[in-house]
Amino acid sequence: MPTIGPDDVLVEVRATSICGTDLHIYRWDPWARDHVVTPVTVGHELTGVVVERGANVTEPDIGSLISAESHVICHRCNWCRTCQGHLCPNTEIIGVHRDGAFAEYVAIPAENAWVDPPDMALSVASLQENFGNAVHAVSVPEVSGRKVLVTGAGPVGIMAIATAKALGARAVYTTDLSEYRLELAAKMGADLALDPTSEDAETIIRDATGGAGVDVLLEMSGAPAAIAMGFRLLKPGGEVALLGLTSRSIEFDLDDSIIFKGATIHGIVGRRMWETWLEMRGLIRSGAVDLAPVVTHRFALDDYHDAFALMESGRCGKVVMFPDPSVADGPLGTGP
Ligand code: NAD
Ligand code: ZN
Repeated sequence: MPTIGPDDVLVEVRATSICGTDLHIYRWDPWARDHVVTPVTVGHELTGVVVERGANVTEPDIGSLISAESHVICHRCNWCRTCQGHLCPNTEIIGVHRDGAFAEYVAIPAENAWVDPPDMALSVASLQENFGNAVHAVSVPEVSGRKVLVTGAGPVGIMAIATAKALGARAVYTTDLSEYRLELAAKMGADLALDPTSEDAETIIRDATGGAGVDVLLEMSGAPAAIAMGFRLLKPGGEVALLGLTSRSIEFDLDDSIIFKGATIHGIVGRRMWETWLEMRGLIRSGAVDLAPVVTHRFALDDYHDAFALMESGRCGKVVMFPDPSVADGPLGTGP
């Protein structure tokens, strides 16, 4: 049982979803080795009920259904003081630097709790933290009326596709290596969903733009081949939002990809606090983005090995785990 400080709330976890970053941790790749502070309980996407409050906490109420912003920020640095807390260099991430949500209970600062409507599906409530990455990435470049390429149709890429469509993109193209995910991407609104290893995705997308290339690249794979192709397909003067983690240094043609193209590059980290959360609330509650189809599998938390094996296989969208399987908002899966 985690202990709470005076500014914390204790949350009984109802649902906790697996992020691509958890997969980096599960594989214990170079990024994980450099960033995760052990020993730690991992997991940073969650929804749950507030069951106890620290001495200084006046809200949220006990019994509230909440989700969590996973970035715990310092409030002292120049970035925090200028409303750019997502860039706080003193950030501690729940489930990376401090105990997280793959557990029955988690302690989080009260200010990191985001109160959900009580009727919100638990799996959707849990994945909002991750949806926020997609919404943040899509909102930084201008997508309205423009042709957008999303490289990597993992859960974040798929939610980015739906968001770009909701925000008025003229067309959204995507690439991935998983047939399952390409089908899901098409269901979520992608105009073209292509596997670059089995078809000439680059030519097909270039042709779809009349040879000009795309206005906006949303890089959601972290794969060097996808990054290179995405930049080749970027129009001169285009905008790029980079979100996928490469996990290691990569080779990249800066000259032709960025400099001679006059491209504008945005690094995307976390969510803007709390603009992104408000935007998400609006996108979800207006029905502009329906996240239900993104949740493809549910598991009891005890079966996390099966859940991670499924994530590794790529034959899934968002995978959600339930410490108490009796509250699961859909049938539980049995593995890949
Ligand atoms: P994911 O690993 O499930 O998705 C990545 C997708 O890229 C996979 O579906 C994979 O098949 C695809 N891919 C691999 N090689 C490819 C290629 N050559 N061409 C096209 N697609 C290819 O991860 P996710 O949960 O969707 O997250 C996306 C990325 O964003 C991950 O790297 C994750 O670590 C990162 N991330 C970053 C932030 C941030 O704040 N910047 C936050 C969350 C996640
Ligand atoms: Zn700070």
